[in-house]
Amino acid sequence: MTTDTPSLPSRMWRGFVIMLRQWWDTDYHPAGMDSLRQSPDEIDLKRCAPFIFLHLGCLFVIWVGFSWFALAAAVALYVVRMFAITAFYHRYFSHRAYKTSRFMQFLFAVIGNTAMQRGALWWAAHHRHHHQHSDEEVDVHSPIQRGFLWSHIGWITSPRNFPTEYSRIKDFAKHPELVFLNRHDMIIPLLYGATLWLVGWLLQMYAPSLGTTGAQLFVWGFFVSTVPLMHGTFFINSLAHVFGGRRFKTTDTSRNSLLLAVITLGEGWHNNHHHYMHSARQGFYWYELDISFYVIKMLSWVGLVWDVRPVPAKIYAEARNQGISKDSAASADAEEDDISAPTATAELGS
Ligand SMILES: [Zn+2]
Ligand SMILES: [Zn+2]
Repeated sequence: MTTDTPSLPSRMWRGFVIMLRQWWDTDYHPAGMDSLRQSPDEIDLKRCAPFIFLHLGCLFVIWVGFSWFALAAAVALYVVRMFAITAFYHRYFSHRAYKTSRFMQFLFAVIGNTAMQRGALWWAAHHRHHHQHSDEEVDVHSPIQRGFLWSHIGWITSPRNFPTEYSRIKDFAKHPELVFLNRHDMIIPLLYGATLWLVGWLLQMYAPSLGTTGAQLFVWGFFVSTVPLMHGTFFINSLAHVFGGRRFKTTDTSRNSLLLAVITLGEGWHNNHHHYMHSARQGFYWYELDISFYVIKMLSWVGLVWDVRPVPAKIYAEARNQGISKDSAASADAEEDDISAPTATAELGS
């Protein structure tokens, strides 16, 4: 008997090949990206695999053991990569809160990519959508709409959220090197892992007193450093809309939290940020710890970044009045149009 329906093994094989091609090229889908956009908005177990792999990989510390050097490397790599995510993926690519050179934006897109939160263009395009529709039904990671776990990690695994919405990030999608990184977002994590192993192996050979090995540095730098980095960032989508205080009466549920600011180098002032998203500074006062902003400021002193956008006086006046409304923030944006990107108001949402 003949049939047009492929057998189960051949369907599974085809699915596997498609998955591999998608790992390699995130803009690929045999039926086109629009078919993904229309697919059910639900957790895809295949997309959970890398997260499970990263978490289980931490268990390898049992085999590779501990050294102070490996621990210090894991902490340093956490800090540098968190800075790349918060200062560049978020404040630069998503909000254009300052300007920098094409080389710097590429460099930090690469460093950010090692955090395994996909490419800068995918990340920033989704984040712009979040600001435009915060806690509305279409918000892709609202804990109010879909629950805490979904807002934390579930949404990333949904096929519907897999495509990069280039129309939301046209201002950076004009750079082919950024599009390449974004499409092939597995290359940098693979190179990152291989580099860790190589450096650890070289240190074992030439600096044995450090007590590390290739496998040990790989496990601590690739797994142990990345998992907290991932959850720290994701907490801003989940916990920062649930836990903490509210200075401004925004139309969303964003909150301010010192604890989250410590973990994320300053992103914990999420209510401040939702009220006024265009500033490079999210801790609006000296006592609101914002390490990313301090580093951005230092980079501006040596000319590596410039046009660092401040918090307008009007926003401080509103803060003194315990916040008024988002309309006031929008009018403050208009006052600052001289330093706004041409597409900023429309694309960043307000
Ligand atoms: Zn938010
Ligand atoms: Zn933002």
